[in-house]
Amino acid sequence: MSVYKSYKGRFAPSPTGPLHFGSLVAAVGSYLDARSNNGEWLLRIEDLDTPRTVAGAADNILRTLEACGMPWDGPVLYQSTRNATYQAVLDQLSLKGEVYACGCTRREIADSGIHGIDGPVYPGTCRSGIAAGRAARATRMRTQGARIHFTDTLQGEITQDVENEAGDFVLARADGFFAYQLAVVVDDHAQGITHVVRGADLLDSTPRQIWLQQRLGLPTLSYAHLPVAVNANGEKLSKQTYATPVDADKPAPLLLAALRFLGQQVPSHLAFASIETIWQWALANWRIKDIPRHRVGVSRETP
Ligand code: GLU
Repeated sequence: MSVYKSYKGRFAPSPTGPLHFGSLVAAVGSYLDARSNNGEWLLRIEDLDTPRTVAGAADNILRTLEACGMPWDGPVLYQSTRNATYQAVLDQLSLKGEVYACGCTRREIADSGIHGIDGPVYPGTCRSGIAAGRAARATRMRTQGARIHFTDTLQGEITQDVENEAGDFVLARADGFFAYQLAVVVDDHAQGITHVVRGADLLDSTPRQIWLQQRLGLPTLSYAHLPVAVNANGEKLSKQTYATPVDADKPAPLLLAALRFLGQQVPSHLAFASIETIWQWALANWRIKDIPRHRVGVSRETP
């Protein structure tokens, strides 16, 4: 039985290509944690960044999840349909003076020379208004006093001084798109998500998301950041490192590899089992505490 009154988890892939082993691990981890707590598991396609979206990738991801025996609950939420909602939240933040328009170029920010966890830290140039003759480009969130502390189920105590380590971050981009940090907070709330289980490449973003939640009066969610699968050279398995997409025609070895990557003690008799049998075992034996508490993990087997 679940220790939680209600559990709603989610998988939120960006449709920039077919699923590779790294994203399958996030799907398997979030799915198992939700289901073994009698929770729901929702799906959100993060197709906010239209230029990076690859035609057919979202459908391909859905088909792969189906082939792997991972049914999701309810309709799939597509971020590309949500602009009016993101704008309404941005307007709400603007009324409260939480955001400001920024006229700086990428170059100017890079030249300021302050480096943080995610590239250059915005030096605050436009905090009290854009200089005369400059046009607004992006909208930024104020981060003065944003000291965030939370306990990640896997990575432990995390503390971040958001202002100095990340800086006033972008909510609406100069190219007109809403930013991931805004959309993820708005949609996790809209979908009623209680538990976020995802790759540790997003651990450093979490304090920015918690800060936004706080300024919007929303509850902080429970977070568990899984090790990110890297190859022997330490590169994240992604399209950029030419990781081979997972082969949805052979889901069983994939699932077993994902379970082993997540530290689960997979018995050898499952080697030739059906996906139904594998899921039965995995659901009955899921132990989130057995997941290695590292930000990265070398994947030695990518079927
Ligand atoms: N769309 C993000 C990705 O594919 C994941 C976002 C999240 O889980 O919060 O990396």
